[in-house]
Amino acid sequence: MKNDMRFRASDQYWVREHNVGLLLNYLWDAEQPTTRPHLTKISGLNKSTVGSLLEEMKSWQVVIESGKSQSRTGRPGTLLSINADGGRILGLEIAVGFLTLVMTDLRARVLWRRQISTTEDNKRLAVASQSEVLGCAERLIAKAILETDATKHTMYGIGVVMPGLVDREQGTLLSSGSLGWGLTPIGALWKEHFGLPVVLANEAKASALAERMAGVAKGIDNFLYLSAGRGLGGGLVLDGKVYGGEESFAGEIGHVIIDPDGPQCSCGSRGCWEQLVGVEAVFRRLHQAVTDGRAPKLLALVGKNVDSMDMHQILEAAQSSDQGVLDILDDVGRVLGIGIVSLTNVLNPKMIVFGGELSLVAKYVLPRARKEVKERGLAATRSVDIQVSAFQFDASVMGAVALILREFLDDPVRWRGSALHLEVVQH
Ligand SMILES: [Zn+2]
Repeated sequence: MKNDMRFRASDQYWVREHNVGLLLNYLWDAEQPTTRPHLTKISGLNKSTVGSLLEEMKSWQVVIESGKSQSRTGRPGTLLSINADGGRILGLEIAVGFLTLVMTDLRARVLWRRQISTTEDNKRLAVASQSEVLGCAERLIAKAILETDATKHTMYGIGVVMPGLVDREQGTLLSSGSLGWGLTPIGALWKEHFGLPVVLANEAKASALAERMAGVAKGIDNFLYLSAGRGLGGGLVLDGKVYGGEESFAGEIGHVIIDPDGPQCSCGSRGCWEQLVGVEAVFRRLHQAVTDGRAPKLLALVGKNVDSMDMHQILEAAQSSDQGVLDILDDVGRVLGIGIVSLTNVLNPKMIVFGGELSLVAKYVLPRARKEVKERGLAATRSVDIQVSAFQFDASVMGAVALILREFLDDPVRWRGSALHLEVVQH
Protein backbone atom coordinates (compact mmCIF):
# COMPACT_ATOMS: atom_id res chain seq x y z
CA MET A 1 0.00 0.00 0.00
CA LYS A 2 3.08 2.18 -0.20
CA ASN A 3 1.83 4.14 -3.18
CA ASP A 4 -1.76 4.52 -2.05
CA MET A 5 -2.38 8.26 -2.37
CA ARG A 6 -6.09 8.16 -1.55
CA PHE A 7 -5.67 9.18 2.08
CA ARG A 8 -2.78 11.53 1.71
CA ALA A 9 -3.51 15.08 2.76
CA SER A 10 -3.11 17.59 -0.04
CA ASP A 11 -0.41 19.71 1.52
CA GLN A 12 1.04 22.42 -0.66
CA TYR A 13 4.23 20.48 -1.46
CA TRP A 14 2.27 17.52 -2.69
CA VAL A 15 0.03 19.79 -4.78
CA ARG A 16 3.13 21.30 -6.35
CA GLU A 17 4.60 17.84 -7.10
CA HIS A 18 1.30 16.81 -8.59
CA ASN A 19 1.14 19.90 -10.79
CA VAL A 20 4.71 19.42 -12.06
CA GLY A 21 3.63 15.92 -13.10
CA LEU A 22 0.51 17.27 -14.78
CA LEU A 23 2.45 19.68 -17.01
CA LEU A 24 5.22 17.21 -17.76
CA ASN A 25 2.73 14.52 -18.79
CA TYR A 26 0.95 16.98 -21.04
CA LEU A 27 4.23 17.92 -22.73
CA TRP A 28 5.13 14.24 -23.16
CA ASP A 29 1.76 13.30 -24.68
CA ALA A 30 1.51 16.39 -26.85
CA GLU A 31 4.66 15.53 -28.85
CA GLN A 32 4.40 19.03 -30.39
CA PRO A 33 5.89 22.06 -28.64
CA THR A 34 3.32 24.18 -26.85
CA THR A 35 3.09 27.62 -25.27
CA ARG A 36 2.79 28.81 -21.69
CA PRO A 37 -0.69 30.35 -22.21
CA HIS A 38 -1.86 27.06 -23.68
CA LEU A 39 -0.51 25.11 -20.68
CA THR A 40 -2.24 27.60 -18.37
CA LYS A 41 -5.51 27.11 -20.21
CA ILE A 42 -5.50 23.30 -20.31
CA SER A 43 -4.22 22.84 -16.74
CA GLY A 44 -6.56 25.37 -15.14
CA LEU A 45 -3.65 26.61 -13.01
CA ASN A 46 -2.91 30.29 -12.72
CA LYS A 47 -0.34 31.96 -14.91
CA SER A 48 2.30 32.55 -12.24
CA THR A 49 2.09 28.94 -10.96
CA VAL A 50 2.61 27.58 -14.49
CA GLY A 51 5.53 29.98 -14.92
CA SER A 52 7.18 28.90 -11.70
CA LEU A 53 6.67 25.16 -12.40
CA LEU A 54 8.13 25.56 -15.89
CA GLU A 55 11.14 27.40 -14.46
CA GLU A 56 11.73 24.46 -12.12
CA MET A 57 11.51 21.94 -14.97
CA LYS A 58 13.83 24.07 -17.09
CA SER A 59 16.35 24.11 -14.25
CA TRP A 60 16.26 20.28 -14.32
CA GLN A 61 16.82 20.47 -18.09
CA VAL A 62 13.78 18.31 -18.78
CA VAL A 63 11.89 21.16 -20.47
CA ILE A 64 13.40 23.56 -23.01
CA GLU A 65 12.34 26.55 -25.04
CA SER A 66 12.17 25.47 -28.65
CA GLY A 67 11.37 28.55 -30.75
CA LYS A 68 8.42 30.92 -31.11
CA SER A 69 4.83 30.15 -32.01
CA GLN A 70 3.28 31.71 -35.11
CA SER A 71 0.32 33.59 -33.71
CA ARG A 72 -2.07 35.59 -35.92
CA THR A 73 -3.21 37.66 -32.98
CA GLY A 74 -0.98 39.14 -30.34
CA ARG A 75 2.67 38.41 -29.63
CA PRO A 76 4.23 35.14 -30.67
CA GLY A 77 4.65 32.92 -27.60
CA THR A 78 7.70 30.91 -26.56
CA LEU A 79 7.34 27.26 -27.47
CA LEU A 80 8.13 24.68 -24.80
CA SER A 81 8.82 21.00 -25.13
CA ILE A 82 10.42 18.02 -23.40
CA ASN A 83 14.18 18.28 -23.67
CA ALA A 84 15.09 14.95 -25.26
CA ASP A 85 18.73 15.57 -24.44
CA GLY A 86 17.99 16.29 -20.78
CA GLY A 87 18.69 12.76 -19.64
CA ARG A 88 19.45 9.18 -20.51
CA ILE A 89 17.62 5.89 -19.89
CA LEU A 90 18.92 2.34 -20.13
CA GLY A 91 16.56 -0.47 -21.14
CA LEU A 92 17.52 -4.12 -20.91
CA GLU A 93 15.66 -7.17 -22.12
CA ILE A 94 16.73 -10.52 -20.75
CA ALA A 95 15.22 -13.12 -23.07
CA VAL A 96 15.75 -16.80 -23.71
CA GLY A 97 18.86 -16.94 -25.88
CA PHE A 98 19.65 -13.23 -26.09
CA LEU A 99 20.06 -9.89 -24.34
CA THR A 100 19.11 -6.55 -25.85
CA LEU A 101 20.29 -3.29 -24.34
CA VAL A 102 19.39 0.22 -25.48
CA MET A 103 20.38 3.68 -24.31
CA THR A 104 17.74 6.27 -25.11
CA ASP A 105 17.16 9.95 -24.55
CA LEU A 106 14.20 11.36 -22.60
CA ARG A 107 11.95 11.02 -25.67
CA ALA A 108 12.74 7.30 -25.82
CA ARG A 109 14.77 7.72 -29.00
CA VAL A 110 17.36 4.97 -29.28
CA LEU A 111 20.93 6.34 -29.25
CA TRP A 112 22.74 3.02 -28.82
CA ARG A 113 21.61 -0.59 -29.21
CA ARG A 114 23.28 -3.98 -28.92
CA GLN A 115 21.80 -7.45 -29.06
CA ILE A 116 23.93 -10.39 -28.09
CA SER A 117 23.33 -14.11 -28.09
CA THR A 118 23.41 -15.92 -24.77
CA THR A 119 23.24 -19.39 -26.26
CA GLU A 120 26.17 -21.76 -26.24
CA ASP A 121 27.79 -22.66 -29.56
CA ASN A 122 25.01 -20.89 -31.39
CA LYS A 123 22.57 -23.67 -30.53
CA ARG A 124 19.05 -22.41 -30.10
CA LEU A 125 18.33 -24.36 -26.93
CA ALA A 126 21.62 -24.54 -25.01
CA VAL A 127 21.48 -21.40 -22.89
CA ALA A 128 24.29 -19.95 -20.80
CA SER A 129 23.97 -20.12 -17.01
CA GLN A 130 22.25 -17.41 -15.01
CA SER A 131 25.49 -15.99 -13.62
CA GLU A 132 26.97 -15.86 -17.14
CA VAL A 133 23.90 -14.05 -18.48
CA LEU A 134 23.86 -11.51 -15.62
CA GLY A 135 27.62 -10.95 -15.91
CA CYS A 136 27.23 -10.40 -19.63
CA ALA A 137 24.43 -7.88 -19.02
CA GLU A 138 26.58 -5.97 -16.51
CA ARG A 139 29.46 -5.70 -18.98
CA LEU A 140 27.06 -4.55 -21.68
CA ILE A 141 25.60 -1.82 -19.43
CA ALA A 142 29.09 -0.58 -18.55
CA LYS A 143 29.97 -0.52 -22.27
CA ALA A 144 26.83 1.47 -23.14
CA ILE A 145 27.60 4.05 -20.46
CA LEU A 146 31.17 4.41 -21.71
CA GLU A 147 30.40 4.51 -25.43
CA THR A 148 27.59 7.06 -25.19
CA ASP A 149 29.32 9.49 -22.82
CA ALA A 150 26.41 8.97 -20.46
CA THR A 151 28.43 10.34 -17.57
CA LYS A 152 27.81 13.80 -19.05
CA HIS A 153 24.06 13.36 -18.63
CA THR A 154 21.61 12.72 -15.84
CA MET A 155 20.85 8.99 -15.79
CA TYR A 156 17.20 8.31 -15.01
CA GLY A 157 17.65 4.61 -14.36
CA ILE A 158 17.79 1.10 -15.74
CA GLY A 159 14.59 -0.65 -16.80
CA VAL A 160 14.84 -4.43 -16.92
CA VAL A 161 12.28 -6.77 -18.46
CA MET A 162 12.13 -10.54 -18.63
CA PRO A 163 9.61 -13.30 -19.16
CA GLY A 164 8.31 -14.54 -15.83
CA LEU A 165 6.71 -13.50 -12.58
CA VAL A 166 8.17 -10.34 -11.11
CA ASP A 167 7.68 -8.61 -7.76
CA ARG A 168 7.91 -5.08 -9.04
CA GLU A 169 7.89 -3.36 -5.64
CA GLN A 170 10.95 -5.37 -4.56
CA GLY A 171 12.60 -5.41 -7.98
CA THR A 172 12.86 -9.18 -7.71
CA LEU A 173 12.30 -11.91 -10.26
CA LEU A 174 10.22 -14.58 -8.53
CA SER A 175 10.48 -17.21 -11.22
CA SER A 176 10.80 -17.60 -14.94
CA GLY A 177 9.85 -20.95 -16.45
CA SER A 178 11.20 -20.09 -19.88
CA LEU A 179 14.57 -18.84 -18.55
CA GLY A 180 14.68 -21.61 -15.94
CA TRP A 181 15.51 -19.04 -13.24
CA GLY A 182 14.24 -18.92 -9.67
CA LEU A 183 14.14 -16.09 -7.15
CA THR A 184 16.68 -13.42 -8.19
CA PRO A 185 16.91 -9.95 -6.58
CA ILE A 186 18.19 -8.24 -9.74
CA GLY A 187 16.92 -4.78 -8.76
CA ALA A 188 18.79 -4.69 -5.45
CA LEU A 189 21.93 -6.20 -7.02
CA TRP A 190 22.22 -3.65 -9.78
CA LYS A 191 21.11 -0.69 -7.73
CA GLU A 192 24.11 -1.42 -5.55
CA HIS A 193 26.40 -2.20 -8.48
CA PHE A 194 25.59 0.78 -10.71
CA GLY A 195 24.27 3.29 -8.18
CA LEU A 196 21.19 3.88 -10.34
CA PRO A 197 17.49 3.26 -9.80
CA VAL A 198 16.44 -0.09 -11.30
CA VAL A 199 12.87 -1.03 -12.22
CA LEU A 200 12.07 -4.64 -13.05
CA ALA A 201 8.91 -5.91 -14.73
CA ASN A 202 7.43 -8.72 -16.75
CA GLU A 203 8.25 -8.10 -20.40
CA ALA A 204 4.71 -8.27 -21.77
CA LYS A 205 3.36 -5.81 -19.19
CA ALA A 206 6.23 -3.42 -19.89
CA SER A 207 5.71 -3.74 -23.66
CA ALA A 208 2.05 -2.82 -23.22
CA LEU A 209 3.21 0.32 -21.42
CA ALA A 210 5.58 1.20 -24.28
CA GLU A 211 2.84 0.77 -26.89
CA ARG A 212 0.56 3.03 -24.90
CA MET A 213 3.18 5.71 -24.32
CA ALA A 214 4.84 5.78 -27.73
CA GLY A 215 3.57 2.98 -29.96
CA VAL A 216 0.49 1.90 -31.89
CA ALA A 217 -1.80 2.03 -28.84
CA LYS A 218 -1.06 5.65 -27.95
CA GLY A 219 -4.20 7.15 -26.44
CA ILE A 220 -6.07 3.81 -26.37
CA ASP A 221 -7.47 2.97 -22.94
CA ASN A 222 -8.39 -0.68 -23.47
CA PHE A 223 -6.08 -3.00 -25.31
CA LEU A 224 -4.23 -6.26 -24.99
CA TYR A 225 -0.58 -6.67 -25.84
CA LEU A 226 0.39 -10.17 -27.00
CA SER A 227 4.06 -10.97 -26.66
CA ALA A 228 4.82 -13.94 -28.88
CA GLY A 229 8.35 -15.01 -28.08
CA ARG A 230 9.60 -18.29 -26.65
CA GLY A 231 6.54 -18.18 -24.44
CA LEU A 232 3.34 -16.22 -24.95
CA GLY A 233 2.82 -13.36 -22.51
CA GLY A 234 0.09 -10.80 -22.19
CA GLY A 235 -0.05 -7.21 -21.06
CA LEU A 236 -3.52 -5.89 -20.31
CA VAL A 237 -4.28 -2.19 -20.38
CA LEU A 238 -7.74 -1.59 -18.93
CA ASP A 239 -9.20 1.86 -18.44
CA GLY A 240 -5.80 3.35 -19.25
CA LYS A 241 -3.80 1.40 -16.68
CA VAL A 242 -1.66 -1.73 -16.98
CA TYR A 243 -3.75 -4.29 -15.14
CA GLY A 244 -1.87 -6.47 -12.67
CA GLY A 245 -4.60 -8.41 -10.90
CA GLU A 246 -4.70 -9.23 -7.19
CA GLU A 247 -1.08 -10.40 -6.97
CA SER A 248 0.10 -8.62 -10.14
CA PHE A 249 0.30 -11.92 -12.00
CA ALA A 250 -2.48 -11.12 -14.49
CA GLY A 251 -1.70 -11.62 -18.16
CA GLU A 252 -0.48 -15.24 -18.14
CA ILE A 253 -2.43 -15.79 -21.32
CA GLY A 254 0.07 -18.29 -22.68
CA HIS A 255 -1.45 -20.84 -20.32
CA VAL A 256 -5.01 -20.46 -21.49
CA ILE A 257 -5.88 -24.03 -22.46
CA ILE A 258 -6.83 -24.32 -26.12
CA ASP A 259 -6.50 -28.10 -26.60
CA PRO A 260 -6.85 -30.21 -23.41
CA ASP A 261 -5.24 -33.18 -25.19
CA GLY A 262 -2.49 -31.09 -26.75
CA PRO A 263 1.26 -31.07 -26.04
CA GLN A 264 2.61 -31.04 -22.48
CA CYS A 265 3.37 -27.55 -21.13
CA SER A 266 6.06 -26.44 -18.66
CA CYS A 267 3.26 -25.30 -16.32
CA GLY A 268 2.11 -28.90 -15.83
CA SER A 269 -1.00 -28.63 -17.99
CA ARG A 270 -1.54 -29.69 -21.60
CA GLY A 271 -2.37 -27.84 -24.81
CA CYS A 272 -1.73 -24.35 -23.45
CA TRP A 273 -1.93 -21.60 -26.06
CA GLU A 274 1.85 -21.02 -26.03
CA GLN A 275 2.46 -24.70 -26.77
CA LEU A 276 0.55 -24.15 -30.02
CA VAL A 277 1.59 -20.66 -31.18
CA GLY A 278 4.74 -19.81 -29.17
CA VAL A 279 7.96 -19.45 -31.13
CA GLU A 280 9.25 -22.82 -29.88
CA ALA A 281 6.13 -24.52 -31.24
CA VAL A 282 6.53 -22.72 -34.57
CA PHE A 283 10.19 -23.78 -34.81
CA ARG A 284 9.22 -27.36 -33.93
CA ARG A 285 6.63 -27.51 -36.70
CA LEU A 286 8.94 -25.92 -39.27
CA HIS A 287 11.75 -28.24 -38.27
CA GLN A 288 9.44 -31.16 -39.05
CA ALA A 289 8.42 -29.58 -42.36
CA VAL A 290 12.07 -29.18 -43.36
CA THR A 291 12.82 -32.81 -42.41
CA ASP A 292 9.78 -34.06 -44.36
CA GLY A 293 10.81 -32.10 -47.45
CA ARG A 294 7.76 -29.81 -47.33
CA ALA A 295 9.78 -26.58 -47.02
CA PRO A 296 12.53 -26.70 -49.67
CA LYS A 297 13.29 -22.98 -49.62
CA LEU A 298 13.68 -22.92 -45.85
CA LEU A 299 15.90 -25.99 -46.13
CA ALA A 300 18.09 -24.16 -48.64
CA LEU A 301 18.42 -21.24 -46.18
CA VAL A 302 19.21 -23.23 -43.05
CA GLY A 303 21.22 -26.03 -44.69
CA LYS A 304 22.51 -28.45 -42.09
CA ASN A 305 21.88 -26.00 -39.21
CA VAL A 306 18.21 -26.80 -38.74
CA ASP A 307 18.67 -26.50 -34.97
CA SER A 308 19.77 -22.89 -35.19
CA MET A 309 17.00 -21.80 -37.58
CA ASP A 310 15.90 -18.23 -36.82
CA MET A 311 12.88 -16.04 -37.48
CA HIS A 312 14.68 -14.01 -40.18
CA GLN A 313 15.22 -17.18 -42.21
CA ILE A 314 11.59 -18.15 -41.76
CA LEU A 315 10.54 -14.69 -42.96
CA GLU A 316 12.79 -15.03 -46.01
CA ALA A 317 11.34 -18.46 -46.85
CA ALA A 318 7.80 -17.07 -46.51
CA GLN A 319 8.69 -14.11 -48.74
CA SER A 320 9.87 -16.53 -51.42
CA SER A 321 6.52 -18.37 -51.23
CA ASP A 322 7.73 -21.59 -49.62
CA GLN A 323 4.31 -23.27 -49.43
CA GLY A 324 5.12 -25.51 -46.46
CA VAL A 325 6.19 -22.47 -44.45
CA LEU A 326 3.16 -20.41 -45.52
CA ASP A 327 0.78 -23.23 -44.53
CA ILE A 328 2.27 -23.52 -41.05
CA LEU A 329 2.24 -19.74 -40.45
CA ASP A 330 -1.37 -19.62 -41.65
CA ASP A 331 -2.30 -22.37 -39.18
CA VAL A 332 -0.47 -20.52 -36.39
CA GLY A 333 -2.69 -17.54 -37.31
CA ARG A 334 -5.76 -19.77 -37.02
CA VAL A 335 -4.90 -20.88 -33.47
CA LEU A 336 -3.84 -17.34 -32.56
CA GLY A 337 -7.25 -16.08 -33.75
CA ILE A 338 -9.13 -18.73 -31.75
CA GLY A 339 -7.39 -17.62 -28.55
CA ILE A 340 -7.97 -13.95 -29.34
CA VAL A 341 -11.72 -14.57 -29.75
CA SER A 342 -11.99 -15.82 -26.15
CA LEU A 343 -9.99 -12.90 -24.80
CA THR A 344 -11.90 -10.25 -26.73
CA ASN A 345 -15.23 -11.77 -25.70
CA VAL A 346 -14.18 -11.42 -22.05
CA LEU A 347 -12.38 -8.07 -22.16
CA ASN A 348 -13.80 -6.18 -25.16
CA PRO A 349 -10.52 -4.41 -25.98
CA LYS A 350 -10.33 -1.84 -28.77
CA MET A 351 -7.05 -3.24 -30.02
CA ILE A 352 -4.82 -6.29 -29.86
CA VAL A 353 -1.14 -5.42 -30.30
CA PHE A 354 0.99 -8.28 -31.56
CA GLY A 355 4.69 -8.07 -30.72
CA GLY A 356 7.78 -10.12 -29.93
CA GLU A 357 9.86 -12.43 -32.10
CA LEU A 358 6.92 -13.96 -33.97
CA SER A 359 5.71 -10.50 -35.03
CA LEU A 360 8.52 -10.49 -37.62
CA VAL A 361 6.29 -12.82 -39.66
CA ALA A 362 3.06 -11.02 -38.70
CA LYS A 363 2.25 -10.45 -42.37
CA TYR A 364 1.82 -14.22 -42.82
CA VAL A 365 0.09 -14.91 -39.50
CA LEU A 366 -2.32 -12.06 -38.83
CA PRO A 367 -4.60 -12.25 -41.93
CA ARG A 368 -5.81 -15.70 -40.81
CA ALA A 369 -6.07 -14.57 -37.16
CA ARG A 370 -8.26 -11.62 -38.24
CA LYS A 371 -10.44 -13.93 -40.32
CA GLU A 372 -10.98 -16.29 -37.34
CA VAL A 373 -11.93 -13.37 -35.10
CA LYS A 374 -14.43 -12.05 -37.66
CA GLU A 375 -16.04 -15.47 -38.09
CA ARG A 376 -16.06 -16.66 -34.49
CA GLY A 377 -16.22 -13.52 -32.32
CA LEU A 378 -19.38 -12.09 -30.83
CA ALA A 379 -20.94 -9.33 -32.93
CA ALA A 380 -20.14 -6.81 -30.22
CA THR A 381 -16.42 -7.64 -29.92
CA ARG A 382 -15.32 -8.92 -33.33
CA SER A 383 -14.44 -5.43 -34.59
CA VAL A 384 -11.27 -5.50 -32.46
CA ASP A 385 -8.35 -4.02 -34.36
CA ILE A 386 -5.34 -6.40 -34.52
CA GLN A 387 -2.12 -4.45 -35.05
CA VAL A 388 1.58 -5.22 -35.15
CA SER A 389 3.66 -3.62 -32.40
CA ALA A 390 5.38 -0.36 -33.29
CA PHE A 391 8.62 -1.85 -32.00
CA GLN A 392 8.23 -5.50 -33.13
CA PHE A 393 11.31 -7.47 -32.02
CA ASP A 394 12.33 -4.54 -29.79
CA ALA A 395 8.93 -4.19 -28.13
CA SER A 396 10.21 -5.64 -24.86
CA VAL A 397 13.37 -3.59 -24.60
CA MET A 398 11.37 -0.43 -25.36
CA GLY A 399 9.06 -1.58 -22.57
CA ALA A 400 12.07 -1.51 -20.26
CA VAL A 401 12.68 2.13 -21.24
CA ALA A 402 8.99 2.92 -20.74
CA LEU A 403 9.18 1.61 -17.15
CA ILE A 404 11.65 4.32 -16.21
CA LEU A 405 9.83 7.03 -18.15
CA ARG A 406 6.52 6.12 -16.50
CA GLU A 407 8.08 6.27 -13.02
CA PHE A 408 9.55 9.67 -13.81
CA LEU A 409 6.36 11.09 -15.35
CA ASP A 410 4.20 9.74 -12.52
CA ASP A 411 6.26 11.33 -9.77
CA PRO A 412 8.89 13.61 -11.32
CA VAL A 413 10.05 15.33 -8.16
CA ARG A 414 10.72 12.09 -6.27
CA TRP A 415 12.21 10.30 -9.27
CA ARG A 416 14.37 13.26 -10.15
CA GLY A 417 15.84 12.97 -6.66
CA SER A 418 17.01 9.43 -7.36
CA ALA A 419 18.35 10.08 -10.86
CA LEU A 420 22.06 10.63 -10.88
CA HIS A 421 25.06 12.04 -12.63
CA LEU A 422 27.17 8.94 -12.88
CA GLU A 423 30.44 10.80 -12.46
CA VAL A 424 29.42 11.41 -8.85
CA VAL A 425 29.05 7.72 -8.09
CA GLN A 426 31.70 6.10 -10.25
CA HIS A 427 34.34 4.33 -8.22
ZN1 LIG B 1 0.95 -23.98 -19.67
